[in-house]
Amino acid sequence: MIRVAAAVVCGWAAAACTPNQNGDDAGGLADMSAPSDESAPADQATAIQVCPGVPAGQPTNDPWQRERSTVDLVDDVPGAFQVHVLYVEPSDRTATTPLDTNGSLRRSVTAFNAWLVDRTGGPKLRFDTCKGTIDVTYVKLPSPFTERELADGTTLSPNGPPFVRERLEAELSKTFTDPNKLYLVYYDGLAFGRCGGAAYPPTVHGHFTGQYIGGIFAATFLTASASAGAQQLVVADPTQLPLPAAPFSATLGSETVSVQTVQNNVLTIAAPLATSHAVGDVLQAATHPPDCRSNAFSVDGAQLNYWEYSGVHECMHPLGIVDARAQDFAPAPVAPGHLSASNPGAGVADLMYQGTSPWGCPTFPSAANAAASPCELDPLHRNYFMVANGSGAIDLANSVFLDPSRAGALPPPGW
Ligand SMILES: [Zn+2]
Repeated sequence: MIRVAAAVVCGWAAAACTPNQNGDDAGGLADMSAPSDESAPADQATAIQVCPGVPAGQPTNDPWQRERSTVDLVDDVPGAFQVHVLYVEPSDRTATTPLDTNGSLRRSVTAFNAWLVDRTGGPKLRFDTCKGTIDVTYVKLPSPFTERELADGTTLSPNGPPFVRERLEAELSKTFTDPNKLYLVYYDGLAFGRCGGAAYPPTVHGHFTGQYIGGIFAATFLTASASAGAQQLVVADPTQLPLPAAPFSATLGSETVSVQTVQNNVLTIAAPLATSHAVGDVLQAATHPPDCRSNAFSVDGAQLNYWEYSGVHECMHPLGIVDARAQDFAPAPVAPGHLSASNPGAGVADLMYQGTSPWGCPTFPSAANAAASPCELDPLHRNYFMVANGSGAIDLANSVFLDPSRAGALPPPGW
């Protein structure tokens, strides 16, 4: 798939990555009154130093599950460059399995950082912790940030950046402002055509990188309402939200439709609609890659599933990885920031591979731990880790986000 524009977005297997531009965003986190620790007035400092406890009814020694926290708690390593985890929901959706309190996000981060330790030979990403426990902040976005209006690619109100990552950064950066933090956002809402998205400096500067739990593929949405009896549907640009070649069967809300032709942004269906459909209603082809939500999280903090690999992957892009100077930098139409399979040491199993072949990192069944994982971190040091060829490519080994960091380690470009 070819996408035009500027932030890197990444989906299942070969889904493309997209650069995009920031834009204005009129909304505000008006009901998010809790300050981050950086901005907390002195009289609140004591209150937010308490780390969340284990939820009632859970074993008191559970290392993952914690009560919900809505602020960035006091840091174990104040001032250090570190990754802070946010769990973000749109205004009109409440997860039945909240990933912050049930431990999924802490297990996932722990598992992927253990993989990184194994591959680097020691260093890992420095995560923001509260007395040793990964600090996960829950954010409920206010109206008007509904699931549909935040969905990637929409031009629905609120007007603003066209991509979900930029929409989230425009909003969340009003509250989460630490200049030394990279915010890893687990967004539990709808996105089109991808399970994640990232900044990619120096092209796209940003402190927020995302995993889109509700991402779906081969799907679009109505940009005009459709009456019962209609046989034409006006949808978001199918070149941006790719659909299969017509004819194909699809679902539109609770209805099944047979799409006969796709012409620009108008779909013609074989039979009149049984019911009316509103702007924003989702149309998804019957045959499509697995929804992001079907991917599992690490069950034990060691096992590695899709979300673990994509978590590390989406933390690399905002550091400027993969740099265009890398030897195996994937050319267009692959979105910038990835490796082609020409790397003889890893190919499709490199953490930063993207292309037409399935990504070789996730396996079925899942790798039980880092040692059992096929996923590689630039093993021949040609591209982004301990780069040995003098190309000048941005090198993870020199990043201030590594723990421990080298002397003279560097922040991402533009930070
Ligand atoms: Zn990517």
